[in-house]
Amino acid sequence: MFAVGLTGGIGSGKSTIADLFATHGVTIVDTDVIAHRVTAPNGAAMPSIAHVFGPGFVAPDGSLDRAKMRALIFSDDTAKARLEAITHPLIRSETERERAAAQGPYAMIVVPLLVESGAWKSRVDRVLAVDCTVETQIARVMRRNGFPREQVLAIIERQATREARLAAADDIIINDNTPLERLAQEVRQLHQQYLALAGAALP
Ligand code: ADP
Repeated sequence: MFAVGLTGGIGSGKSTIADLFATHGVTIVDTDVIAHRVTAPNGAAMPSIAHVFGPGFVAPDGSLDRAKMRALIFSDDTAKARLEAITHPLIRSETERERAAAQGPYAMIVVPLLVESGAWKSRVDRVLAVDCTVETQIARVMRRNGFPREQVLAIIERQATREARLAAADDIIINDNTPLERLAQEVRQLHQQYLALAGAALP
């Protein structure tokens, strides 16, 4: 199935734009949702997590004890990499499974860290980046999540820069104070383009 990777920094508008593509019948595969699912109660990563980190990292409901894992990652430099060595392959295979099962003309895979993790870029046929200013990101995430400004900035600083994301993109949607009707119009145009590309990629 032809796949467009949708990426952008926190609060750039990925979910808003994915929702607009979904209205055209495009299947949305969200890697954040999948990442959460693999460590949810009895998620696919839980047996390996219990084995590698010990049963103490499994909460009574069978999910990852996130507070305990956060504390470990904070104090042990290798813990994050060990956790990701378990979760990332599972997230990738589950994403591929959903992509293969997708209905509709093509799939859109939402990958917040597409630019940061090189492996994703080669797995999609096209990259669509959502771009807005850092100030817009901060204002949106403060409002949406109730985070203080410094916390939002700290998250943004750990993500790729706007420049790096734009350099990796085939297509760009600018989403600063953009009215929803205007976004919907841009999505409609891109959707036509992706339909043509997906059609041309058929065997
Ligand atoms: P992301 O998925 O990239 O974190 P979201 O799509 O959740 O971003 O957008 C972040 C917040 O900003 C949401 O509350 C969303 O409703 C709002 N938002 C996004 N784009 C716009 C826009 N063009 N106009 C007004 N609000 C927007």
